[in-house]
Amino acid sequence: MRGLSEGTDVVSLCSNLIRFDTTNYEHGRAQGEAACVDYIESLLCDAPFPRIRLESAPSRSNLIVTVTGTRPELPALVCQGHLDVVPADPELWSFDPFSGEISDGYVYGRGAVDMKDFVAAMIAVLRSWAANGVRPTHTTYFAFVADEETDGAFGAAWLVRNHPELFRGARFALGESGGMQIPWRDAQSNPVNFYPIATGERGTAHLRITAQGTAGHGSRPRNDNAVVQIARAVTRIADHRWPARVTRSMRAFIDAVGAVRGEDLAAIDLNSQGGVERLLDRLGPLADVVDRAFRPSSVPTMLRAGYKVNVIPERADAMVDVRTLPGGEDAMMTCLDTLLGPRVRREFIAHEPALESPLDTPFFQAVCSTLRDIDPLAVPVPFCTGGGSDAKAFSHLGIHSYGFAPSCLGAHGRKAQGAHGVDERVPTDSLHFSQRVLDRLLLWE
Ligand SMILES: [Zn+2]
Repeated sequence: MRGLSEGTDVVSLCSNLIRFDTTNYEHGRAQGEAACVDYIESLLCDAPFPRIRLESAPSRSNLIVTVTGTRPELPALVCQGHLDVVPADPELWSFDPFSGEISDGYVYGRGAVDMKDFVAAMIAVLRSWAANGVRPTHTTYFAFVADEETDGAFGAAWLVRNHPELFRGARFALGESGGMQIPWRDAQSNPVNFYPIATGERGTAHLRITAQGTAGHGSRPRNDNAVVQIARAVTRIADHRWPARVTRSMRAFIDAVGAVRGEDLAAIDLNSQGGVERLLDRLGPLADVVDRAFRPSSVPTMLRAGYKVNVIPERADAMVDVRTLPGGEDAMMTCLDTLLGPRVRREFIAHEPALESPLDTPFFQAVCSTLRDIDPLAVPVPFCTGGGSDAKAFSHLGIHSYGFAPSCLGAHGRKAQGAHGVDERVPTDSLHFSQRVLDRLLLWE
């Protein structure tokens, strides 16, 4: 850990959090979150909120801070942020990924956007509530968790499986994947700020597919050659064009954007030739956010077969990264089985169904009205994310998640950038905005 910055404002907090190297490598290798949790605990030691710290494995720390609401009989909320980050190769970066440097209106470093910015806002809100004697209406669990960047096996998934009692009464959760400010124009060319809120997530089905044949001499062709079977199955999967489908979240998204833009976007038939592309064309700066939301996908990513050029192996296998749309998994698996053919079988390596949270909940309404209160140009819109988050773990407790980690552009067009890439940075203006929105939202009635 590099030297901590002075101060405990949201900008210094974000910078300090970045200085803890919490890199999560593959296969359970990780730097761990313990030192970062020590730091967070040190910031909250005088706060009157009960804390529970749980280690799922040595140095894999999770921290739950409970703020009991003034009306504890109302549904409770989980506000969750992960402390781990993906690896950063310093050779590729133009600055030290763990410097947490603050300059030119940015905080720099791995985690600045994903998601130590939001974690800093969570801590800032807790500290300000403690200092000012503020309590929310709804009981709120602040969950600082480990291991989101692998699969949550040491973080959210572990907590939900082993300590569900920590989230007693929780009906809603707030986490990453949405909330970014996207400036555009309405039908009259007036400026508006869209804020996509993740009300759905595609599901994850990581599949191992295996072809079984008969081992034999490479000089004797066989009809059941496992290498050929797996190659054909992989090709069929890669070539398959999954039909587009509009989920509940995306229907509401299309209607809302169409209304603001004065266009009948719902009239575009997504399953006509180039239909999805035509819709994305009309979505301007929003296209990037929703480009994976209309179709499931199945992408072959690994192949393994054979051990000697003159031996036909008995088996061959491949990995396929399948992402499903809410409500579409069964039909997709049936189709995949047809594509695999009779000699290739499949098994799940990882399997998390898609999510879709209701739009008519008081908490979703609170997210929208908070945004409109703080930003008069705000147009909140629901959407379905292409990937996944810890929301899936919390869904096992019947908790509806909303991906909303608010962020905005900084002065002179400064932009949050570099999540999972190089030169990650967040505008300091965005951090202040995030704290302001979060503070107001968490006091929802
Ligand atoms: Zn993240």
